[in-house]
Amino acid sequence: MTKLWLNNQLLDQQQATISIEDRGFQFGDGIYEVIKVYEGVLFTAKEHIDRFYRCADDLRIVIPYTKDVMHKMLYELVEENLIDTGHIYMQITRGVAPRTHFFPNEGTEATFVAYTQTAGRPLVNLQEGVKTIFREDIRWLRCDIKSLNLLGAVLAKQDAHELGCYEAILHRGETITEGASSNVFGIKDGVLYTHPVNNLILNGITRIVLMACCEEMGIPVVEVPMTKEQALAMDELFLTSTTSEVTPIIQVDEQLIAEGTPGAWTRKLQQAFEQKITATISV
Ligand code: PMP
Repeated sequence: MTKLWLNNQLLDQQQATISIEDRGFQFGDGIYEVIKVYEGVLFTAKEHIDRFYRCADDLRIVIPYTKDVMHKMLYELVEENLIDTGHIYMQITRGVAPRTHFFPNEGTEATFVAYTQTAGRPLVNLQEGVKTIFREDIRWLRCDIKSLNLLGAVLAKQDAHELGCYEAILHRGETITEGASSNVFGIKDGVLYTHPVNNLILNGITRIVLMACCEEMGIPVVEVPMTKEQALAMDELFLTSTTSEVTPIIQVDEQLIAEGTPGAWTRKLQQAFEQKITATISV
């Protein structure tokens, strides 16, 4: 029987229920994380857990466990569910209270949930690359918080899906911010370009690992926003996320990128990222 954490209880997935007055359900008042598991090992667990606590703190949600306890709980779940390759989804909300916008009374406990899914690596996308579309970024101005409120991303992603594309590249006016659920990078003349870390993007953990790869490989990184026009003129484009890893972008709307095939720099970065995975699981 597959288990999950509901607060501090390890329950059968079928047994777990959430109140209709949970603030995550009514307001999207909470945050989440997705951690990839490779061969039973949590990849960049510390970075994900740190971001979970930082986001909770930004929203004044109190997580009732230490980071160490959280780490142990996640491992216990992965072992209990015999996850080899897959991921953990975890979220915490401001808890259960009668519906009013302002925060519940002090002492109202947050609702924590974590569950696992078996999922292989996206090998076809990694190999062949993906098609994308441009969409206006209509999200709120705290995209640095991994909030449960995902409507801006959901609507953009649905448009992409209906058009047979994998991702929507979001832009505010002419300026690209990030993907609906990924960070976006361009490479021109051997230099990597990506949006700087601020309130308009989520500082992806995969982005951080990728930038470390660039540093190790001596690839210069320029953190400036790209315009749509600049992005289309890049030699190569790719996106990163926990589940997508380093995925080449081969088309945006009607325009092919790098003649519609993954570029050489992207391939090198994929290899470097792969080495990070190997290093983690062989520890
Ligand atoms: N930006 C957004 C909006 C996302 O939803 C995600 C994926 N959660 C990312 C970037 C990539 O973050 P990570 O590499 O930590 O998965």
